[in-house]
Amino acid sequence: MSAPLRFEFVTSADDVYRLPDSQAEVAFLGRSNVGKSSLLNALANHKRLAHTSKTPGRTQLLNLFELGNGTTAVDLPGYGFAAVPGATRSGWKQMIEGYLLERAALEMILVLVDGEIGPTPLDVSTLAWLQLNDLPHTVVAAKADKVKPSKRGQRRSELADGCNVAAEAVVWVSAAKGDGIEKLRGLILGWLATGSKRSRTVASPNRATDPVEEPYDDEHEWN
Ligand code: GDP
Repeated sequence: MSAPLRFEFVTSADDVYRLPDSQAEVAFLGRSNVGKSSLLNALANHKRLAHTSKTPGRTQLLNLFELGNGTTAVDLPGYGFAAVPGATRSGWKQMIEGYLLERAALEMILVLVDGEIGPTPLDVSTLAWLQLNDLPHTVVAAKADKVKPSKRGQRRSELADGCNVAAEAVVWVSAAKGDGIEKLRGLILGWLATGSKRSRTVASPNRATDPVEEPYDDEHEWN
């Protein structure tokens, strides 16, 4: 059995540039009520961990958790609150899109979709935006236990079609029953390991001592 992920709350920020550095990071994105907090709790094997990011004032921020070895996870605000006034909503959109586009350490965006009801129009447009911007993402179908076993095959292909991804690429989980949680932990550790290996290579002290030949560019003007 895989060990729970550490998920130690570090900080909340309203802007990607206020987040601490990370070796490698995964982000959790999904509409309100999709089961994101329950999933974070299941991954950490903790009952009220995601409560931290649900406390008033933090629900609209980027919440960063330490996962060990300098790797991190960010819980993004749940989108789709119709009751939020337009100005706040556009501020959120900027914050979330800014984070997704600018966060250098971001290795994978986990997009939660309700496994029982499938992607909502807002989920579909979020996924289309991620695809358009070529951002690495994986669809996680939550609340798998709510789909009757006899309907699962059909549901899997419908949901994947609706999300415009391959059925094999969707990770089905049930925070309530624990299904798929170990598999998802393993995937997360894999994405983080690849990312931190890459960032160590970039920061490797050996590289600084390598003879470096600066490409000389006559044409370039430093202005
Ligand atoms: P969030 O708003 O995305 O953080 O969603 P929550 O984690 O608070 O969950 C929203 C509702 O869905 C709650 O009533 C949860 O009990 C329920 N829920 C979450 N995960 C599951 C699951 O795996 N199975 C079932 N049956 N219900 C779930």
